[in-house]
Amino acid sequence: MTALFISDLHLHADRPEGIEQFVEFTRREAVSADAVYILGDLFEVWIGDDDTDPTHAPVIDALALLKREGVPCHFMQGNRDFLVGRRFATATGCKLLGDWEIIDMHGTRVLLTHGDLLCTDDKPYMALRAMVRDGAWQRDFLAKPLSERRAIATDLRARSRTETARKPADIMDVNQQAVESAMRERGVTRLLHGHTHRPAIHEFTLDGAPATRIVLGDWFDSGSVVRWDRHGFRLESLPR
Ligand code: MN
Repeated sequence: MTALFISDLHLHADRPEGIEQFVEFTRREAVSADAVYILGDLFEVWIGDDDTDPTHAPVIDALALLKREGVPCHFMQGNRDFLVGRRFATATGCKLLGDWEIIDMHGTRVLLTHGDLLCTDDKPYMALRAMVRDGAWQRDFLAKPLSERRAIATDLRARSRTETARKPADIMDVNQQAVESAMRERGVTRLLHGHTHRPAIHEFTLDGAPATRIVLGDWFDSGSVVRWDRHGFRLESLPR
């Protein structure tokens, strides 16, 4: 059994090469995997499943191909595509995951999350997250016309860019205490996430036991994937 994990593709019309690489990845690699996990931020922006943006079509088609080929695909929302919902799931055949999921990889319990919930030092972001993840806020947002939603999203993206440039780098990384309590609470010693765009394998000790935190990279200049099979896992870069 081979599972592939990806995140932070940030697919957008401005970067057609990213969309192309993802489509190629599904056709050449994902199609022969036993499971695919997308751990958030597949899209740079997602303003609702009813969006008619034609640049999403090849991505949805690529996922639907996996479904037709019998490859189970799982999708977790990121901080950019947290409005991905049931209509997307139906169109693509992806199973939607919650913010925290535990899967079994050849006898090892692995905790999956996008990663933003671990960045607890970034207080302004955590406040914004609480706002946009609120059911009433989302219903209100989704009731607005697409043009208005698009304008709000453009504004939020611009604000995020300014704030990201202003914030100290360590604020935007995970908080080690948050990592450890998330793992301890769920009784796991393996954690796999994205979001920080800092691909790495971190080994540490959790309550006396060896623990591992695997971080996926983004797809801005090259792809990033974790392959997990019966021999273990590998974090790989996918050249463009
Ligand atoms: Mn993210």
